Amino acid sequence: MTMHEFLHQVSAKNADQPEFIQAVSEVVETIWDVYDSNPQYRKAKILDRIVEPDRIIIFRVPWTTDAGEVMVNRGYRVEFNAAIGPYKGGLRFHPSVNLGILKFLGFEQIFKNSLTTLPMGGGKGGSDFNPRGRSDDEVMRFCHSFMLELFRHIGPDTDVPAGDIGVGKREIGFLYGMYKKIRNEATGVLTGKGLEWGGSLIRPEATGFGTVYFAEEMLKTKGMSFDGKTVLVSGSGNVSQYAIQKVNDLGGKVVTASDSDGFIHDPDGIKGEKWEYLMELKNIKRGRISEYAEEFGVKYYPGARPWGIPADVALPCATQNEINGEEARTLIKNGCICVSEGANMPTTPEGVELILDAKILYGPGKAANAGGVATSGLEMTQNSMRISWSREEVDAKLHSIMKAIHESCVQYGKKDNFTNYVRGANVAGFIKVANAMMDQGLV
Ligand code: NDP
Repeated sequence: MTMHEFLHQVSAKNADQPEFIQAVSEVVETIWDVYDSNPQYRKAKILDRIVEPDRIIIFRVPWTTDAGEVMVNRGYRVEFNAAIGPYKGGLRFHPSVNLGILKFLGFEQIFKNSLTTLPMGGGKGGSDFNPRGRSDDEVMRFCHSFMLELFRHIGPDTDVPAGDIGVGKREIGFLYGMYKKIRNEATGVLTGKGLEWGGSLIRPEATGFGTVYFAEEMLKTKGMSFDGKTVLVSGSGNVSQYAIQKVNDLGGKVVTASDSDGFIHDPDGIKGEKWEYLMELKNIKRGRISEYAEEFGVKYYPGARPWGIPADVALPCATQNEINGEEARTLIKNGCICVSEGANMPTTPEGVELILDAKILYGPGKAANAGGVATSGLEMTQNSMRISWSREEVDAKLHSIMKAIHESCVQYGKKDNFTNYVRGANVAGFIKVANAMMDQGLV
């Protein structure tokens, strides 16, 4: 079978799942030569097997609003691949969630987790529930109902979910509370827990910090650093908040942040009391980014994304397909030298092609945002050992994992003085999982 025949087969089988097809195509196109030149992989049909999840669980989530109205959402857990460890990957609560989106995220997670150097398989889950505008009590009732089904399928050695869009410390707390009540055991079954009840220091910061550490490694290959660089960030949630903080620490200036309604442009930089305001606005007040513009008298662009503002570095940290071809072209034209993806698959295939053709530094999400799941892996280790590492210890481990991921990408992606990090990440991630699958036979 040729690569095109294989991809055609995947597309035909999953015709209603465009994001999943997009994620599979990107991986398969970059690893096909490795797969094709290894007759053992072909004989064992590793690729045919790796694109089929081990299992998918879909369930009803009934709950009531504060006014007593009965609501029904759909819950999912995609247990994709456990060749190198228990399923591991976040839960996303967002109205756009459907099976195709979770399969794309779970598929990406297999290779990302493999890259971290830690023993974690790939999974993802969530619901079409929209936490926006819901009271804490409503979110609690939803999370409790969600866990009333999910608990049967997860466990510290089976499947360990974490947060993602719409799922932060508050939601993990409610989910963990219900799991513990039903099972009557306190285990490391979820990561992203609060510090007082089994969480790890640096886990909230990890994805954003890791994305910036990865960008820093890429910049170093060109003899550059963040010092004095102007940086665009999209989103204003967990990943964005800590990406902004780390850029500030390294002497860069972040001039944008966004949410699904629009973006703000602050030419002086989101730092000091402004960064603290953003943290309070999003994590405590749960307000909109437009309020930042009102507070500090900067420009707000409703219904727009930040990629038209000239800058040296772009850190997309909101959601999938948020940099299209036109926006990639604009970034390049405006002199952007580095894109490091905090979000999962934030750049469309056309955008990726343009960025790679321009030969600027480009860290794909599965490498650049792997710091989050890597630190979740460190949280699992601490839970199993019943100990807590210090902030410095965890940050140092995160930093060295991001450096190791960068090295793997260079090892497999460098050719003629240019590193294609997409190829590097996919090949490095794939080989480890494929070899584990070979060792374990046809299961
Ligand atoms: P949060 O829910 O904390 O924040 C998400 C941010 O993105 C919010 O500002 C949100 O705006 C915005 N956003 C969400 N959907 C859209 C959309 N369709 N269009 C425009 N803006 C949107 O999520 P995280 O920060 O945790 O996750 C962000 C990205 O990072 C996701 O792609 C996630 O998969 C990825 N990621 C997260 C990890 C983690 O550890 N949390 C680990 C690895 C990757 P609004 O408030 O208006 O919805």
